[in-house]
Amino acid sequence: MLRAMSERAPPEFDVVIAGAGVSGLGMGIALKRDGKRSFVILEKANAVGGTWRDNIYPGCACDIPSNLYSYSFAQNPRWSRLYPTQSEIQDYLEHCTDRFGLREHIRFGAAIERAAWDDANAIWRIETSDGDIVTARAFVSGMGGLHVPHMPEMDGVERFKGESWHTARWRDDVALDGKRVAIIGTGASAIQIVPQIATKVAKLDLYQRTPPWIVPKGDKPVSENTKDFYEHAPALQQVARLATYAEHESHAVIFLNLPNGEGPGGKLARTYLERQVSDPMLRAKLTPNYRMGCKRVLISDDYYPALQRANVELITSGARAITESGVIDGKGVAREADVIIFATGFKPMDLISQVEITGAGGRSLNAEWASGPQAYLGTVVSGYPNFFTLMGPNSALGHNSMIYMIESQIAFVMDALARLDERGAAALDVKAETQAAFNEDVQAKLSRTVWGSGCTSWYLTPDGKNCTLWPDYTFKFRARTKRVREEDFEFT
Ligand SMILES: Cc1cc2nc3c(=O)[nH]c(=O)nc-3n(C[C@H](O)[C@H](O)[C@H](O)COP(=O)(O)OP(=O)(O)OC[C@H]3O[C@@H](n4cnc5c(N)ncnc54)[C@H](O)[C@@H]3O)c2cc1C
Repeated sequence: MLRAMSERAPPEFDVVIAGAGVSGLGMGIALKRDGKRSFVILEKANAVGGTWRDNIYPGCACDIPSNLYSYSFAQNPRWSRLYPTQSEIQDYLEHCTDRFGLREHIRFGAAIERAAWDDANAIWRIETSDGDIVTARAFVSGMGGLHVPHMPEMDGVERFKGESWHTARWRDDVALDGKRVAIIGTGASAIQIVPQIATKVAKLDLYQRTPPWIVPKGDKPVSENTKDFYEHAPALQQVARLATYAEHESHAVIFLNLPNGEGPGGKLARTYLERQVSDPMLRAKLTPNYRMGCKRVLISDDYYPALQRANVELITSGARAITESGVIDGKGVAREADVIIFATGFKPMDLISQVEITGAGGRSLNAEWASGPQAYLGTVVSGYPNFFTLMGPNSALGHNSMIYMIESQIAFVMDALARLDERGAAALDVKAETQAAFNEDVQAKLSRTVWGSGCTSWYLTPDGKNCTLWPDYTFKFRARTKRVREEDFEFT
């Protein structure tokens, strides 16, 4: 790979990977197994895991079954539950780090602050917070799509005299037993936390703006027999994985094609709500008034029962402001709280906001992405040679496992690196017109899906543009990322 670089200053590595979450580790494993390129993973924290290291709130678990939410090449026959918990995924990622010999490639405590493409030498210069500069032929970002917590702009947050935190910064040192707790938000994290803490706290006030669509999860332990079976017959675990993948992919039919009426998913959710919540007033408060799927559909077996406890109050006007001693709701009613938990999600558009990325001719990715990020196949960006972004714009999903998408992107990166070698080229850069045509198509498709059906959601920019989701079947994404189409790129 370094052949074409012989006249130039040689870079320290062939590849620098940012982040040691599912993406960064997966990329590292692919490079390690290939064995042809030097690489380093720069991780700002002191452990691997990303999402599953950071989100340690009570009840944190994956919405995708264990067999599918794992690397395809590293099945774990001994998942304890149908849906993996945060700690089990974290253990799995630690295990994969050791199994594939990645630890020697990771620099912990290395927060990337700047990454700049050096036109003259055709290398990336990557600067970390401790002033180190690392150089590489290629720069792969695995910095995460849901990594930067979103804190609502709300009056008085700084005035609150009690303890408060975001769900992604959970405070284990503050016991919630017997306390008055306010949770702001009713998204994916909140519905996992509420059942876990409702039995401990004195009072739980849950501030809702919009109710989520919820379907049953059906979580259960995996029997010892099944674990033994998977251990002795890994091919059959792959078959089970494939069946789970196909089942999840079938949900895309509803999201992509906007059926008339609420469709089978909407009926299932409505019946579930009716069966679980007997009080018609509470049921009305929990009934969504937008199309199912427009916002992320949630799965839970224990959220509705927890809401019916005497010490839990659902406040449907949302939270308007924070005072020294509690929360004021949207109607102006104040309620006291000892602890406020912000279950307000993440900033998916802030893919790179904490890193200054400069491409060919000094162009700034942060400036170009200010009103919404854009890439080609969610992975490469025109004007940023040899730069790859895993879980990049329009590669996230509302219906299936992100690991499937991440593995597809990793295959694309590996193919791109191989093409550089084959051609003896220093760099490849996706053509601007290819990227523009791709994004036009993505936005046109999105406008015909449930995600473009008119609700507000974290998938959208403030201008209402969806820069988050892949608007098609995941197997189509896989097919398109299997090989780099050379005609889409300029090679130098
Ligand atoms: C609460 C929660 C639940 C989720 N549930 C599901 C689910 O059910 N199904 C699903 O498919 N997906 C789910 N996701 C999405 C999940 O984020 C992805 O599936 C996957 O874990 C993303 O991995 P990643 O490596 O791309 O990003 P992350 O896991 O976010 O990892 C990014 C890594 O980059 C590091 N990093 C960031 N910036 C820098 C920097 N400047 N310098 C150095 N290192 C840096 C971070 O410290 C982190 O370790 C969930 C996400 C969250 C937050």
